[in-house]
Amino acid sequence: MAFKAEYIWIDGTRPTAKLRSKTKIVADGAELPLWSFDGSSTNQAPGDKSDCVLKAVFTCPDPIRGRDDVLVLCEVLTNDMAPHPTNTRAACAEIAAMYAGQEAIFGIEQEYTFFKDGRPYGFPPIGFPAPQGGYYCGVGADEVHGREIVEKHMDLCLAAGLHLSGINAEVMPGQWEFQIGPVGAPRVADELWIARWLLYRIAEDFGVAATLDPKPVKGDWNGAGAHTNFSTNAMRDNYDAIITACEALGKRVSEHIAGYGAEIEHRLTGMHETAPWNAYSYSVSDRGASVRIPWQVKVDGKGYIEDRRPNANCDPYVTTRLIIETCCGALAD
Ligand code: ADP
Ligand code: MN
Ligand code: MN
Ligand code: MN
Ligand code: MN
Repeated sequence: MAFKAEYIWIDGTRPTAKLRSKTKIVADGAELPLWSFDGSSTNQAPGDKSDCVLKAVFTCPDPIRGRDDVLVLCEVLTNDMAPHPTNTRAACAEIAAMYAGQEAIFGIEQEYTFFKDGRPYGFPPIGFPAPQGGYYCGVGADEVHGREIVEKHMDLCLAAGLHLSGINAEVMPGQWEFQIGPVGAPRVADELWIARWLLYRIAEDFGVAATLDPKPVKGDWNGAGAHTNFSTNAMRDNYDAIITACEALGKRVSEHIAGYGAEIEHRLTGMHETAPWNAYSYSVSDRGASVRIPWQVKVDGKGYIEDRRPNANCDPYVTTRLIIETCCGALAD
């Protein structure tokens, strides 16, 4: 007998990468082999040297196909077995291993927007729905669109064994969020990429597209982010470490903004619960700050911080690598 392995990888589309996947039939008991693909069709290689290599790095049950079938997240290698230039996971894993003693963990809030017929799901065919106000965490067919897909996606993530910690309807109609974590890097990013793949895949069955566009509707409509909650063992122990991390993030603003997702300046305008992308701030309980210290963390004198800047379309390998570099680097000094 044999099982189906869905090999999933991050392609070379830029500025925002996309997911690709293909199915391999693997004999029962066999290891998941290296597998090649046509990099000239994914912006990862020229046509005359088109073969790129997929190496399995994270495997979980395939909750859609069931049985013994699996989802296999892969790193992309060149054909001399080095990390491909589009492979951001290798550097993330390296820095995480370097600071493993600090036990960094992340909870990422992935916001996204459903689209149908070129319009956000729930928008009327022409014009706009009622202004924002009642949609966030709403209930009822007048305000909530796509819950059948969201419920299904949540069940699939749990059946796959991902650390999904919750879902909610967001501020704009058709906009939703799920959270992955808290768990270490690069695993939190592996799981987030798998959860994104499951979202695209299950929405397909409903004739709906899910998008990570950070500003899907211009004007007075909320953008989509990927708030990244973060702590180390020291931050979970004392408030000084919380402040050290917040201050350190203020010293490398441009590096972080450059790695937090394409078109971030369209979303981080200073409106719609954001801080301006070029003016760093941190503050307790403030959803208008770049970095929020949750109120409970201030009360307890320990816990975690929320970097509110990453875009929905960020690469979580890059986001978590930057935060570890900056914060664990400062905490190690
Ligand atoms: P918000 O109020 O910003 O919407 P959410 O409930 O959506 O918050 O997300 C909070 C996230 O913080 C969750 O993903 C959770 O896993 C994460 N989290 C909680 N505690 C920690 C911690 N100590 N370190 C890192 N992340 C944490
Ligand atoms: Mn072919
Ligand atoms: Mn949230
Ligand atoms: Mn949110
Ligand atoms: Mn948040």
